[in-house]
Amino acid sequence: MLKNNFQLSSKMKISVDPQKLESFSQNHVKFYLKYSSFVFKALKKPSFQKFLRWMLKEEKIKEQKVRAVQVKVLPFRQKNGNGVAGKCNTARGRIRIYPKTIKFCQIFKQKFGLNNLLAYAGNRARAALIHELLHLKYAKDEKTVRELAKEYFCIFTQKQYTQSARSLFIYTMIFNTKTSGKKNPSNDSNAPRTKLKLNETCLRASSFFK
Ligand SMILES: [Zn+2]
Repeated sequence: MLKNNFQLSSKMKISVDPQKLESFSQNHVKFYLKYSSFVFKALKKPSFQKFLRWMLKEEKIKEQKVRAVQVKVLPFRQKNGNGVAGKCNTARGRIRIYPKTIKFCQIFKQKFGLNNLLAYAGNRARAALIHELLHLKYAKDEKTVRELAKEYFCIFTQKQYTQSARSLFIYTMIFNTKTSGKKNPSNDSNAPRTKLKLNETCLRASSFFK
């Protein structure tokens, strides 16, 4: 079955830099290993894989262009201290997906509970993979990638959970936390407007899904 070799899911693996592990405590390593295997499963879910194939087709991105998708065990921070969700080496076709830090997860869990944390972690990784796959086509056009990533993520979640309160919450967490780092003047996260925005996006998205 030659066709299977081109499937995205067969190019995915969990990856860790052994020398970096030494700077983490045993408990933290345990946490990040658990996190990465959870995310790995979330990304490999047949419904999501099916969606990605459709998205790649829609965008005319050849599956062969994706050489490797690495689910990194340890988080990555930029020099400015901001965490990174994903990276794409467009020349090599290599995508990396990074976790949130243990500290973030602990606070999140305290505030919103374990189920929401799991939903958030899985969907954040899905959104990151969608985003990085789009970079294979749009390269450095960050604005287009961000807009399209939102729309595609929306299509996927809409198909999965309909418009539930949780999916709205997760969407807001993933896409609003990203922009809030940029000292946005409209930073007061007022829920009704976010909801309106989401509905607009989903409406637009669902019309081109047909
Ligand atoms: Zn990007």
